[in-house]
Amino acid sequence: MFELVVATNNAHKVKEYQEMFLGYNIKFYSMKDLGIKCDPAEDGTTYEENSLIKASALAKLTKLPVIADDSGLNVIALDNFPGIYSSRYADSFGGNKVANLELIKKLKPYKDKSAFFACLITLMNVEDKPVQFKGICKGRILDEPVGEGGFGYDPIFYSDEAKMAFGIAPAEVKNKYSHRAKAVEQLIKYLKNKELI
Ligand code: IMP
Repeated sequence: MFELVVATNNAHKVKEYQEMFLGYNIKFYSMKDLGIKCDPAEDGTTYEENSLIKASALAKLTKLPVIADDSGLNVIALDNFPGIYSSRYADSFGGNKVANLELIKKLKPYKDKSAFFACLITLMNVEDKPVQFKGICKGRILDEPVGEGGFGYDPIFYSDEAKMAFGIAPAEVKNKYSHRAKAVEQLIKYLKNKELI
């Protein structure tokens, strides 16, 4: 059984990883499961850097293989804003309920509402060097939030591939088409190639 710790304090991310690893020969731990506290400053300038910062911090606290993800929503008309600042942008409005409405307002003058979610997973404690996997999910920002499902920016994101808003997508649909699912797909392929799972 391949054991893996995920470097996130975001309960929604933990839930999605739990669901995506189901059916594989992987025993999944959250930091909470192991009583580990780790919250490094994400002061990188790219998803790659921030993901590596989180994975490295956790890798120092456990010998088990670890993964960290850095993710966010990129709006094309806004030069990929909020991007790596997605979490901080939401916090600046006290959460995504208000931040999502603010983002819709910000996009009002633009015809092109194209956007994509990105997820960058860093795997450490398997090889000497960190290994990274990137997943992208294309779509657009809706004119109003829909549904109560998912988390973060899901209610205002329409996925081109899922052909529905992530706010109303059942978990199995989001977990098939999301940026996180695409990155996890590559991670699983990598672990299979290494005969670790
Ligand atoms: P991180 O935890 O620093 O990677 O911040 C990621 C932020 O991007 C989250 O707090 C959400 O606001 C947003 N985000 C990332 N993935 C998703 C997703 O799957 N759905 C909706 N929002 C997401």
